[in-house]
Parts: sequence; C-alpha cells; structure tokens
Amino acid sequence: TAGELDGKTALVTGASSGIGAATAEALAAEGASVSLAARRTNRLDELAGRIEASGGEALAITTDVTEESDIETMIETTTDAFGGLDVLVNNAGIMLLAPVDRADADDWRRMVSINLTGLMNATRAALPALREDEAGHVVNISSDARRGPGTGFGAYAATKAGVSTFAESLREEVADDGVRVTTVEPGATDTELPDHITDAAAKDEVEAAIESMHTLEPADVAAAVRYAVTQPPRVNVDELLVRPTDAG
Ligand code: NDP
Repeated sequence: TAGELDGKTALVTGASSGIGAATAEALAAEGASVSLAARRTNRLDELAGRIEASGGEALAITTDVTEESDIETMIETTTDAFGGLDVLVNNAGIMLLAPVDRADADDWRRMVSINLTGLMNATRAALPALREDEAGHVVNISSDARRGPGTGFGAYAATKAGVSTFAESLREEVADDGVRVTTVEPGATDTELPDHITDAAAKDEVEAAIESMHTLEPADVAAAVRYAVTQPPRVNVDELLVRPTDAG
C-alpha cells in the first residue's frame, strides 16, 4: 500500500530509544527511508533490523550530537545513501533534573550541549539539503516543561525554551525556500529519559510523579510528528503541545 512518505528521507536523532525510536518506526511505516542517529550502535542496528523486516528502509549512523564532525558525517551519510534529505527530526536529548542550588555544573553543560547546541548544529548542517528539497522539514522535540516548569526543571526547561525559540526565528529564515519548521512539546512520556538523572531526590520525585499518572507512550508523540510531516507542503504545523490527559 502507498505510504504518505513514499520516496522521502527522514533523519531522526536520538533514535536508539523512546520517542526517537517510535518516530523512526512511524515515519518508516509511511514509506520514508530513515536514518537512525544516536550513540548506542547496537540499539540502532536492532531498530534498523526491525524496520527492514517490516519492509522499510533504514540506516544506522553512530552519532554523538555534541561532536560537530559526527553531525557532518550523519548528514553526508544520509544524503549519499538516500539521495537527499526531506525531514530532520531533532529529538536527541537528556533531562538531568536538580534544584539550582544543588545542580551539578557538568549536568548543565551536557544538557546545553546535547539539547540545544547539538540541535542547532544538526539543523545548520542539514539546511543545504533541506533547502534543495521541495518541502524540507525540521521537527524539533521540545517539551511542555518549557511552559511553567516545576522545581528541579530549571536548566532542562531553559534548554527546551531555547529549542522552541530557535525554531521561531529559523521558520522565518527558511520559509522562502519552502522549508517548514515544527516544534513538538510532549508532556510526560514513558521512556528512559529519567534514568540518567544524577540527583537522587530529583530522580525519586519525578519517578513518583510519572507512576501516579497515565503517561503518554512514545508512539503517541510519534503520531504528532507523523501528522506534521504528512501535511501538504503549504501547511506548516508550527507547534503541537501533547500532554497526558490526567496531567490536568
Ligand atoms: P530516551 O532517553 O529514551 O531517548 C533519548 C535519546 O537521545 C536516546 O536515543 C539517546 O541515545 C539520545 N541521545 C542522548 N545523548 C545523545 C548524544 N550526545 N548524541 C546523540 N544522541 C543522544 O528519552 P525520550 O525518548 O523521552 O527523549 C527524546 C526527546 O524527547 C528528548 O529531547 C526529551 O527531552 C524529549 N521529551 C521527553 C519527554 C518525556 O517525558 N519522556 C517529555 C518532553 C520531551 P544514545 O544514548 O544512544 O546516544
């Protein structure tokens, strides 16, 4: 059956787990050839195998988005293999929660370099290929935490506010070339994201909050990305805020 993304190419950063993996699968199911970028090569290979077993096309590219040379390679490998790039999904991210007075400086540096600088560098590197395309598309995974974050979320939310704001300026710069820019802001989603929190109390608190609600599944967020990238070229879905119903 014909997919809505037949003949298109998508690159998803942070595709080794959670929202990124689900997004890669959703886009591949619509017919897109997908590049899978993240650091855990074995996870990427497993996912590429699953996508290929269901009749899709996938390429695993080991990438650390904090390394500019990795980002160049990720884009070049994709355009060489698939002949171009239509959709960049900037999804790689970490969430290292802690109250400001206890926060670890290295946690802050890592969050800024992955969530924000990494995303900005990936976007810049992809732009020549996206501009060449008839309807290039950048999708950034921000977070609902950028609006009214609770305690412990300050630095993480600052990176996500940065992502959302960066997208607003980018949208104006690339519109004349038909490149669309979408920001998706998910609420709590059941993934590995909290696993890496270094502050024990902040980790306990967020895990308890997650257990007390029906969180989103990664596929729910992937569906929002799929919606944005399957609209006609004239339609730019600027923002999608998708939250668990019982988050209130
Ligand atoms: P996961 O921890 O499951 O996924 C994070 C992904 O980012 C992994 O694939 C990881 O791969 C990748 N990543 C981390 N560091 C790097 C790096 N330096 N270079 C390349 N890839 C990297 O969590 P989620 O799926 O939840 O997170 C995906 C995005 O969604 C993040 O941006 C997160 O902030 C956002 N988000 C998540 C929410 C949630 O509640 N889960 C809510 C709102 C937003 P690897 O370790 O293999 O490199």
